[in-house]
Amino acid sequence: MAALLEIAEPGQSQVKEACVSAAVGIDLGTTNSLVAFVGPDPASGAGKPLALPVDEGSTLLPSVVSYRADGPPIVGREARRRAADAARDTIASVKRFMGRSSADPETKRLSPYRFAEGESGTVRFEVAGRTVTPVEVSAEILRTLKTRAEERLGTPVRQAVITVPAYFDDAQRQATKEAGRLAGLEVLRLLNEPTAAALAYGLDKRSEGTFAVYDLGGGTFDISILKLVEGLFEVKAVGGDSALGGDDFDRAVAEVLLAEMGRERDPRLVRQAIDAARAAKEALTARDSVEVEIAGFHRTLTRAELEAAMRPLIERTGPASRRALKDAGVEGKLDGVILVGGSTRVPAVRAYVRELFGLPPLADIDPDEVVALGAAVQADLLTAEKPQHDVLLLDVAPLSLGLETMGGLVEKLILRNTTIPTSATQEFTTFADGQTGMDIHVVQGERELVADSRSLARFRLSGIPALPAGLARVAVTFQVDADGILSVTAKEQLTGISQSITVKPSHGLTDEEIERMLLASLEHAEDDMAARLLIDARIEAQRILRAAEHQLESNGDLLDAEERAPIEQAMQSLRAAMESSDHRPIKDAIERLDHDSAEFAKRVMDRGIERALKGHTAAEFETGEMSEHAKKAYRALKDE
Ligand code: ADP
Ligand code: MG
Repeated sequence: MAALLEIAEPGQSQVKEACVSAAVGIDLGTTNSLVAFVGPDPASGAGKPLALPVDEGSTLLPSVVSYRADGPPIVGREARRRAADAARDTIASVKRFMGRSSADPETKRLSPYRFAEGESGTVRFEVAGRTVTPVEVSAEILRTLKTRAEERLGTPVRQAVITVPAYFDDAQRQATKEAGRLAGLEVLRLLNEPTAAALAYGLDKRSEGTFAVYDLGGGTFDISILKLVEGLFEVKAVGGDSALGGDDFDRAVAEVLLAEMGRERDPRLVRQAIDAARAAKEALTARDSVEVEIAGFHRTLTRAELEAAMRPLIERTGPASRRALKDAGVEGKLDGVILVGGSTRVPAVRAYVRELFGLPPLADIDPDEVVALGAAVQADLLTAEKPQHDVLLLDVAPLSLGLETMGGLVEKLILRNTTIPTSATQEFTTFADGQTGMDIHVVQGERELVADSRSLARFRLSGIPALPAGLARVAVTFQVDADGILSVTAKEQLTGISQSITVKPSHGLTDEEIERMLLASLEHAEDDMAARLLIDARIEAQRILRAAEHQLESNGDLLDAEERAPIEQAMQSLRAAMESSDHRPIKDAIERLDHDSAEFAKRVMDRGIERALKGHTAAEFETGEMSEHAKKAYRALKDE
């Protein structure tokens, strides 16, 4: 919004505001959150990012929020200490729930919390006699960072760049933005965490290069491959393990200690052992041995023992890293590896990374702070005072640009307020077997449905080789040049045939119209989301039914009549559920079909190796991959 208002009214008020309020960078982490700010370096006077102390003198604010019946929530270290006595009222790692629906199997898997039934599938935690959403919990963390930064800086903080994992989907990004707004922040931009780390190292000042960002935090491991093209970073590949991090090191060490103690384990003792293990692990980064005490049990722990316990876990980061390199198409031509996350302080982790990539990793910047520092650099760039005539503020896409996908949904490739020039590529696949053409419909706006968006252009890519559904790969690239001209190119990856079109998205759009479109998107956000969920669910259902029919037809001989009946029944209920105007019954019916056909799927898979070689899509029945596959499918463009 800022950019827009500034375009519309280049008056004085905006300029004055910029002088008295600060824009900060925020790393909203799973385990810890930080806020950083670019201020003048006392030595040189040049801008220098600095993480602000926000919690008991530390720059790390534990991402823990503890709710009370009789007062405002407590955030940070004090909340973490309170967790022992008020476990269910104290929410940790809320980031894992952002943008997830309560129907998401991950949601239930992840948590010791009490959930309340929310409307439209939103997760709600029951805490201290009320319910809160993940967005609200995250907003508490952001609010705390904002207030403490204001105390430190002595000026109001109104604007922020907030970082998100590169793999966050649209719902997760929207949820993060929403949390920022709730906390009273104008979110200037969401920045990918690996990109932030690269900015902190000033890698954008090079002309080009390919970098790996190795991020091992408390509970997650993320690997990202970035490519720098003309000063802009593109995320070429992401990978990782959402259940691997420093917490696992702590548990592995605690396990060793508990086994030696040989005492009966109760939750309290286990908690104490984990806390002691964590303290010992962190101390052993700088020392060779440390004394450990757990409920009267004493022993000396050496770094060698710690490393032995951690080694298998550290090695688990190898395969995902190699896969990401391969996905990004880089083999042995990395220009740098950046370490991010508290767990990369462990010397054995550093040694492993060096060996894995064959490069000494960049580690001069504190790996806890590097993401927040990069976000601060970006916030500073976005708000830097420029001479009046400077066109910097005009250089953003005023409205999101995307294209139509199955069911009349909009897939946004370039988000509103992205600095231009910019480009984005996404792969799409075919929805039907033998589909040889794709309609590319380019749209503009913030709404979820094509019907509510502005149509910019249409064209058709034909000559796609006839393949089973989901196998063709069409890369669609949106490129906006410095003058705001958009070129869209669709390229079939196997044959290389391509088709493109050029449009000027701002043509015939007045500032008032842009404003109106933005307001409408805010007004309709909830309905839009519900409509999107419903269409998504229907498409997923349609696709799964097709796959099931196909498999029954070609592999039906693997089932006897008694085994076949429940599958057909589940298919029938899914067809019935598709009539619903709520996405939940559809999701439930999909899950049931998934469940009831699991055994069949397994048999098809067994037979499938041979089939897959011949180009059949046996994989679509592998239950574990079903939802991932379905996700790709709904992105598939309109059918023939
Ligand atoms: P997240 O990105 O999930 O918010 P962080 O990057 O803050 O997480 O990393 C937190 C993890 O880093 C914790 O598991 C913590 O124990 C670990 N950690 C912090 N300092 C050290 C250290 N000196 N040695 C080893 N591990 C550390
Ligand atoms: Mg992190």
